Amino acid sequence: MTDAPFTESPFPTSPVMPKLYDGNKTISFSCHKGIGCWNACCANIDITLTPYDVVRLKMRLGMSSGDFLRQYTVPYELEKDGIAGVKFKPVEEGTACQFMRPEGCSVYEDRPTACRYYPVALISMRKQDEYTDTSSYALVKEPHCKGHEVERPLTIEEYRREQGVAEYDEQSRGWRQLILKKMSSGPTIGKPSLRSRQMYFMACYDMDLFREFVRSEGFQSSFELDEDMTRLLMENDVELMQFGFRFLKQVLFGEETIPRREDAIRVREQRLREMQELALQRRPYDPADEVLEYI
Ligand code: SF4
Ligand code: SF4
Repeated sequence: MTDAPFTESPFPTSPVMPKLYDGNKTISFSCHKGIGCWNACCANIDITLTPYDVVRLKMRLGMSSGDFLRQYTVPYELEKDGIAGVKFKPVEEGTACQFMRPEGCSVYEDRPTACRYYPVALISMRKQDEYTDTSSYALVKEPHCKGHEVERPLTIEEYRREQGVAEYDEQSRGWRQLILKKMSSGPTIGKPSLRSRQMYFMACYDMDLFREFVRSEGFQSSFELDEDMTRLLMENDVELMQFGFRFLKQVLFGEETIPRREDAIRVREQRLREMQELALQRRPYDPADEVLEYI
């Protein structure tokens, strides 16, 4: 399965722009157990994960985000020298998805967005200086996939509903907007520092580490978060993820939506000590030492 539904094109190596459709386009497709190519798409994967995909899967598996990322993903550059993404890590010395079983997907109810969309690809685009993205779709026809040969007409919108992608798209909207804004900002934003990329990675994918960061005295003494909001962020990964998108808009693009405390400067030295201690305890990409650049 080759699908990257959140970049500007699902066919980054092709010079040919795919034909774009709106949701009313009728396709003919059916994937069902017993079809001759069963599991062929999951046997050779290249699947980009959204932050919401990571949250859903780590919750389903009852794992910390750090453990999930280490066991099931590999980092990659979503954009050269720009922003980090994560992809599924296949089985050891193979190309198949670690969740593939003879009977099908073992995490079907929480399968990632790309798996839900396939063989449709979402193409998000936005105009410069606008956060509102527009969506078009492309159809991915790979030779091994026999689903296209089955006579079952339905529109792309109907297929999206059937596959439950609306919730996934909605939850990942803020993340897509960050990527699109970075991609279209060019030299005005420039190449983010390693520290910026580490911060981006933590706030998008490593919810448990990001929670520690938000809980830290340094963060709490720098930003105005009332008790209810803090409690919500401590208890709910999805709310924390959405808060992370806002936080990144603030630190990367200067769009202030999280109020800062007036007395933040006075506690700077204390934060420095805290974050240095945290940084010493973390793995190499740990962004704890990054905090001071932002708060
Ligand atoms: S998560 Fe499920 S549907 Fe997606 S590639 Fe893995 S086995 Fe296939
Ligand atoms: S029909 Fe396509 S999507 Fe379904 S199992 Fe076969 S290759 Fe995969």
